[in-house]
This record gives sequence, C-alpha cells and structure tokens, in this order.
Amino acid sequence: MKKHLPILLIFLFLFSACSPQNGDNTPFEADARLKISVSIASVQWLVDQIGGEQVQTQSLTTTGDDPHTYEPSPVQMTAMAASDVYFTAGVEFEAVWIPKFTDANSNLEVIDISEGIERIPVADQLHEEGGENEGLDPHIWLSPKNMEQIAGNIASVLQSVDPENAELYQSNLEKTLASIEEIDNQLKQMLSQNKRTQFLIIHPSLGYFADSYGLQMIPVEVNGQEPSPSQLAEILAASKTYGIHTLFTQTGTNPLNVQMLAEQAGIDEIIEIDPMAYDWSANMLFIGSSLKKALN
Ligand SMILES: [Zn+2]
Repeated sequence: MKKHLPILLIFLFLFSACSPQNGDNTPFEADARLKISVSIASVQWLVDQIGGEQVQTQSLTTTGDDPHTYEPSPVQMTAMAASDVYFTAGVEFEAVWIPKFTDANSNLEVIDISEGIERIPVADQLHEEGGENEGLDPHIWLSPKNMEQIAGNIASVLQSVDPENAELYQSNLEKTLASIEEIDNQLKQMLSQNKRTQFLIIHPSLGYFADSYGLQMIPVEVNGQEPSPSQLAEILAASKTYGIHTLFTQTGTNPLNVQMLAEQAGIDEIIEIDPMAYDWSANMLFIGSSLKKALN
C-alpha cells in the first residue's frame, strides 16, 4: 500500500495544478471546441443541446438580469474576444454592444438567431391610446414554435462553421426539436379549457407565449414604464371584470411595488417567473403550470 502513496500525491498535485484554469479570467478553455457567446441564457441552453460536446458557451445575461439595460462584464468581454460566434437575439442592450464585440474581435461571426421569426408588437391591448409603441417584442425565445426556428438556425450555423461535426449537430437538432415539440404538446394540454384566457403580468415577457396558446396577456408596464393613474385604473377594472386573482412578476422586480399593486387589484397570489432562465424546457413547463393555476 505505502508504495502507491507518492504516485497518488503526484497525481493530486498535477490535478490541482490544472483544474483552477477554468473561470479565472475567461469561462472558455483553450481547446478545439467552438467558443460561442449568446445574449440570453435560454439560447445558451439551446446551443448546448445542439452543439453538445463540441461547443463551449457563455451567456451574457441570466436570471435576474435586465436585457433592456444590461452591460457585459470585463470577464465576459475577455471571453467575447476569444469567441468564434456570437448569436444575437436582438434584445435592447445588444444594439450598443455588438459594435464593441466586433471591435474587440474581428474574427467574431455575429449571427441573428431570429431569422425567419415574425416579431409581434409589444402587447398593449388595454392601453392602445398611450402614445408611441416601444416597438417589437424581444422575448422571442418564450415560444416553442420560435424555439424550433431558432434551433434550426443555430444548427445550420454550427454545421457551416464546423462541417466536420455536421452529422452530430444534425442528430442533436432532431432530438432537440422532438423535445421542444413534446413541451409544446404538454403546454397545449395544460392551457386549453380553462376558466379564463386573460392573465395579468408586470413586464410583458409572455407575448409570444400567450399567442401560442390563445391567451391574452394584460401587462401592467406601458412601454417599459409604470402606467399612468388612468391606465392603472383601466388595468384594475379589467382585472376585476375577468376575475383575475394572480399577478405574474419576474425575478428582479421590486417586490414592494408588486405587493402594493396586488393589494389594489385584490390579487391573492403573486407568482414570480424568470424569462431569462437557462433550462428552457423546465422553465416553459413552470410558466405553463403557473398560468394554468392563474386561469382557473
Ligand atoms: Zn423583457
């Protein structure tokens, strides 16, 4: 037994000497795998499904971040400088930052994952008179149909950047599409035949989701701002008319404001959702089952 001890010690020493390299100043290790940066964690999940062992990924934003005002960290910028591909989802902060990414890395391929997706206006069913619309809804990933399109877009980019592994990406794509379809079927079942179709939410992140399942999203925010007193009165009246008893909020929203609004609206349940979550399939099912409670 004793004879083995020195060998074990050497092994441990070597192991500990190489393991901390990951995460010191970049999430990427220097190896042959493709280095891919994305703006949204759910998209990172999708790239991980399709790229498998052949990719390393980083997401700039995650749970609790506000993609409308986000700024990448120095660590993320270092990883961006080492990236082969950047998948943009066209969220607000990217317009300012993409030129800086390409300045820092002239080899970076910037690919728009939303190619082929029809963007919808930000929902404003209850307050259309309220001035100019902020524009098109950026939360494209919160819909299975859109996610299938994005998956196809990602797979074809990986195949053209790394043709050696094209077959792997194709078979991973097929598996991923099947699991997205499965989620979609479960959500269809969950979200048909409920008492009501209207739901109340602070930030309008579920526009594509609502469209997919014939629901009506009633957002409290108007063009990213708090509603005016008259808009608020309108929202409270609609909430009463539809018998709404649940308010959806999201990670990062001030809980005091949410409480106050819930009291005014006679809401007895507040449900926090996370539009920015990494695990898309678990997140979609959580959002679906939460909505089911709210609609009954
Ligand atoms: Zn948002």
